[in-house]
Amino acid sequence: MRIANLLPIRDLLPLFLPHHCETCGSDVLGSHQFLCSRCQEKLPVTGFLKYAGNPVEKLFYGRCRIQQAGALYYFTKDSLLQHILFALKYREQKDAGYFLGRMIGYALQKTDRFDEVDCLIPLPLHPRKENRRGYNQANLIAAGIVEVWRRPLIPDAMIRTRFTESQTQRNRIDRWQHMQDVFSVAKPDLLNNRHLLLVDDVVTTGASLEACAKSLLSLPNTRVSIVTAAYTL
Ligand SMILES: [Zn+2]
Repeated sequence: MRIANLLPIRDLLPLFLPHHCETCGSDVLGSHQFLCSRCQEKLPVTGFLKYAGNPVEKLFYGRCRIQQAGALYYFTKDSLLQHILFALKYREQKDAGYFLGRMIGYALQKTDRFDEVDCLIPLPLHPRKENRRGYNQANLIAAGIVEVWRRPLIPDAMIRTRFTESQTQRNRIDRWQHMQDVFSVAKPDLLNNRHLLLVDDVVTTGASLEACAKSLLSLPNTRVSIVTAAYTL
């Protein structure tokens, strides 16, 4: 057991507890990796974080003033990414959230567009929904981001005060009216005069992010940027 003196215990654990890639089952991966590098490379990167006027930024044009926005990956049906997001939301795979966050963090390190961000705010879930799931997936993603892209994370800055059902059947105006007053600011003193980065798992219509951003922008001298793990076409 001389080797045990040389290696930290966490590096020895995979020898006893086989560790597999979440999607292909390969065991060729580090003890803290969620996907093997082959699967990681297959994820469809958008490149949005790097340039102004990308489709996520355009989504908010004329709706609310967002400084910078972007999503790391394209979300498509029956894809590897859908599998990961499903695991995160419905199979209590918290590691999926930290993994996506770290990948966003690495992408943020490669651009200077988000350098003025002061702190991260995860898009809140309604407390009832969070209790049912046991966690807020946006929180896990944000925690993964700050592991590699160092910024303060304020997980309970906002509260979701109204329970909203699925938005997919509503048109855009309907959806916006439905989202009004859904979010309220719990810790304004921590947010005033700050550039805030709102974090969520997927952006589709942007209605929730827009409503949350508008609440944040009602505080004195705040600026808001947005980042998500995935973007749905
Ligand atoms: Zn794999």
